[in-house]
Amino acid sequence: MLKVGIVGICGRMGHVLVNCFMGLDGVKVVCGVDRNTNNLPINCNVPVVPSFEELDIIPDVLIDFTRPDCSLETLSFARAHNVKVVLGTTGFDDDAKDLIKEASKDIAIVWAANFSVGINILLSLIKKTASIMQDADIEIVEAHHRYKVDCPSGTAIAMGEAAALGRNVNLKDVMVSGRDGITGERQYGTIGFSSVRGGDIVGVHDVNFLCDGESVTLTHKASSRETFARGAIRAAMWLENKKAGLYSMKEVLDLDFK
Ligand code: NAD
Repeated sequence: MLKVGIVGICGRMGHVLVNCFMGLDGVKVVCGVDRNTNNLPINCNVPVVPSFEELDIIPDVLIDFTRPDCSLETLSFARAHNVKVVLGTTGFDDDAKDLIKEASKDIAIVWAANFSVGINILLSLIKKTASIMQDADIEIVEAHHRYKVDCPSGTAIAMGEAAALGRNVNLKDVMVSGRDGITGERQYGTIGFSSVRGGDIVGVHDVNFLCDGESVTLTHKASSRETFARGAIRAAMWLENKKAGLYSMKEVLDLDFK
């Protein structure tokens, strides 16, 4: 039986995860960590503590959907106790990304800005389309619910990275985000990002390839957080016998795109 702890168990993703685990064979939730213990999911019958200092159960895998500062605490607890990690939090800065890579020398981590199967298939199409449509202006438009705190979304950035990879460039060198005022003409080769925030939108991503005479748009719409939760559970089960290292959903789903 694979024992899983959920960090952020009282958040939106935590609630959905607890539901998705119900009735699954070979895996069970044994504990939760969340500073907001007032908002426990219905059907949550495991100990939930507000911080790692109070956690006295060591699970096999921690699934973390929280905030970057909390995820770094998750990684240090996991390293100290040899626990595997499924990391779903978004919004990490470069220093935090380096710390994730460093931690993966000691423990096995699946890190994905988006755990949905559809998004991970789409990433390969984006890379391919960007490499074939070399002259296309690439514009990524994402929309999320009013509570989202990071912008552009981690998924939009992952899509931008896939497009940049298809063109053999570094996203940081071509990314344009948050246009406002007299911006001047669009620079050739840049990848633009725009964000919409409002209502209860779970996540919509449009990747537009805009040419003279034609355009192609690759779209993904998430209608329920269950898609992310199911992907994260699949990643946790996949990790069971994996050695230390940094893995993505590409490995979990065995997507063989280059
Ligand atoms: P949320 O705000 O509803 O939940 C986050 C939870 O983490 C809260 O309950 C909060 O109390 C807890 N938390 C935050 N900091 C903490 C700390 N220091 N110690 C203990 N608990 C702490 O957010 P959400 O909508 O569930 O999303 C969480 C994260 O997951 C975000 O970064 C979001 O972008 C990301 N996300 C990723 C995917 C994916 O597929 N990778 C999908 C959905 C959301």
